[in-house]
Amino acid sequence: MPLRPEVTAFVALGANLGQAVQAVQAALAALNDPENGLRLQRVSSLYRTAPIESSGPDYINAVAHIATTLTAPVLLERLQAIEQAAGRERPYRNAPRTLDLDLLLYGEARIDSPRLTVPHPRMFERAFVLLPLHEIAPELVSADMRRAVSAQAIQAL
Ligand code: ATP
Ligand code: CA
Ligand code: CA
Repeated sequence: MPLRPEVTAFVALGANLGQAVQAVQAALAALNDPENGLRLQRVSSLYRTAPIESSGPDYINAVAHIATTLTAPVLLERLQAIEQAAGRERPYRNAPRTLDLDLLLYGEARIDSPRLTVPHPRMFERAFVLLPLHEIAPELVSADMRRAVSAQAIQAL
């Protein structure tokens, strides 16, 4: 049995290369791994968004609520391992990607280390994060926050 209490965390998923819907669905399956400290609690709809500061096909995005006994740095490592398994490469900043998993929130934690910043520093400027997050955790996203990103094109699949 895990000794650490579970923490509520939110993960943003995105993909725009290859079979993006399948990549997101496979990642969601990988995020439910109770024997290894990850329990998937809730998943938003899948959304389609045009790339911002980026290129290539539209993105498929979603947000997942997980309960985890992993520490935040270990959770980030796990997310990166799932990205690697999906064939993630980082040829340049904001390059199209087979799978991107960002840790949005980890309980109430505020983290500012070289490898991990939580809350994710750009989450509040992104409709593709705020709208799916609002869908599964409306108490975390105010009307003002949604208004701030209302010009960005996004549609549920
Ligand atoms: P953005 O962070 O603007 O969404 P990106 O997702 O394309 O950009 P990546 O290339 O996937 O950026 O990640 C770059 C680095 O960001 C990672 O190696 C990781 O160490 C760091 N990082 C810092 N904070 C976080 C976080 N909250 N979630 C995921 N990665 C993070
Ligand atoms: Ca990202
Ligand atoms: Ca990322």
